[in-house]
Amino acid sequence: MTQLSIGQLSKRFGAVDVLRDISLDVRPGEFVSLLGPSGCGKSTLLRILSGLEQADTGSIRLGVRELTGVAPSERDIAMVFQNFALYPQMTVRENIALPLRVRRLSRWRRMLRLGGAVAADIDAEVAAMARTLEIEPLLDRKPAALSGGQRQRVALGRALIRQSSLLLMDEPLSSLDARLRLQTRDEISQIQRQFGITTVFVTHDQAEAMAISDRIAVMLGGRIAQFAAPEEIYRAPASLAVAEFIGTTR
Ligand code: ADP
Ligand code: MG
Repeated sequence: MTQLSIGQLSKRFGAVDVLRDISLDVRPGEFVSLLGPSGCGKSTLLRILSGLEQADTGSIRLGVRELTGVAPSERDIAMVFQNFALYPQMTVRENIALPLRVRRLSRWRRMLRLGGAVAADIDAEVAAMARTLEIEPLLDRKPAALSGGQRQRVALGRALIRQSSLLLMDEPLSSLDARLRLQTRDEISQIQRQFGITTVFVTHDQAEAMAISDRIAVMLGGRIAQFAAPEEIYRAPASLAVAEFIGTTR
């Protein structure tokens, strides 16, 4: 069973091959990390998955749908960015509600006759999400009044509220201090399992990837050097380069 299937994807920026022949299959509900050093192409791959960037060649299938040429807003993919990208002028409630408001607006435009039926109770959905993530007391605050860990939960709430088929996270822990990083890592893991959402998580930190992932795709120089369970990568690295990266980046 495959939820996300990436086939022979390549991308150049100028003379640089940033992604070379990337193929990857992710199972439904699986937590997969892209692990590799800075500059190896992790963010570029996520941006291509989310539609913010175009690949030169290759295919992306999500469920039964081929995504090539599909606009970002139509891809059924949620993304959490490194800096969380919350809107500072909006409250937590408004930040989490935003994807639902945007979706309702576009549906209104497309099918006016169903307007009444899609005017769902956004407030109730936001309240339910806030309860699940235990951030109810924060709903009326602005992002500036939150701690790093709280911002992280709000960003997750905003990402999860559309119930997308795929969650992408680009180094979501890297702006947190060491203690909070461990705690938030465990929270992300727990929330991911609770929602059962298929997840691709980007990190350059091998201990983080080992702790949180069902499988890890080790990326080196724009290629996937190994794709396997954490224990297997530890026990049987596919190449000297993988062994060196795993062993020297603690
Ligand atoms: P990572 O997220 O693994 O650190 P990136 O995907 O951000 O790596 O970048 C991979 C390579 O592609 C780097 O060499 C980076 O400089 C280059 N790159 C990324 N985006 C662009 C762009 N828009 N134009 C030109 N080069 C880029
Ligand atoms: Mg990056």
